[in-house]
Amino acid sequence: MTETNEPNMNVSSRQNIRKWILVLSFFLLPVTLAFISPIIIVMGAAQGIATGSMLLIIANFILSLVVARLWCGWLCPMGAWQEICSPLVKHTVQDGWRNAIKYGVSALWLALLAYLFISAGGIRAIDPFFAMENGLAINSLPTLVVVAVIFAIMFIVAYLAGRRGFCHMFCPVAPLLVVGRKIRNSFRWPALQLSADSSLCIDCKKCSKQCPMGLDVNGMVRKGEMENPDCILCASCADACPKGAIAYGWNKN
Ligand code: SF4
Ligand code: SF4
Repeated sequence: MTETNEPNMNVSSRQNIRKWILVLSFFLLPVTLAFISPIIIVMGAAQGIATGSMLLIIANFILSLVVARLWCGWLCPMGAWQEICSPLVKHTVQDGWRNAIKYGVSALWLALLAYLFISAGGIRAIDPFFAMENGLAINSLPTLVVVAVIFAIMFIVAYLAGRRGFCHMFCPVAPLLVVGRKIRNSFRWPALQLSADSSLCIDCKKCSKQCPMGLDVNGMVRKGEMENPDCILCASCADACPKGAIAYGWNKN
């Protein structure tokens, strides 16, 4: 059942909680990198090892069957970093070819993983703590430098392309979660989603302004199409709407 949204209900509390979770996620990166890095999965695959990152991404894909890209909106440290930098990024990623790049990146990444695992003789071991030392994944100066360069590139991409530009264009994990959502949408089992009542909308566009992915939420409300592959279910739009036109919750359709 989708929650009924009172105008501006929870606007500060829910989004404040989300932002603090993201900040915490970012600062825990020295530990959690081993569980979220697509590069560490590749390093493990070259040795026939299923890493903690691989296990978490499989878990994320399964979760996406009910919560779509909730991970991106509430927990991912890479997304957190781009939102921390967002006061410096005013524009939004334009619809079209830019959004399609990530599907090619993801396909190449999956093909590389398959090739490496096959070359290594299959999955020969499972090591959830692969690439960790003394409880840390960022455990040396060279690793810190590599991570800093990757995060600098993420910032540059977002600065040039628009809000959460790296999520839109290059994240290899996002397409897996989009596929999970499309599977759910084929079967229509209960899932977390947005819904809207366009009759309440006054076209103030506060929802679009607050969307960290820079989506045209006002347009989505007007068309009655709240499903968008780039929606990360952060609820910012629902919390920003002064008329309660957008609801966020569990629904069957
Ligand atoms: S459409 Fe709403 S829930 Fe989806 S990413 Fe934008 S603000 Fe978040
Ligand atoms: S859905 Fe709400 S926030 Fe968005 S334009 Fe309409 S009234 Fe404004």
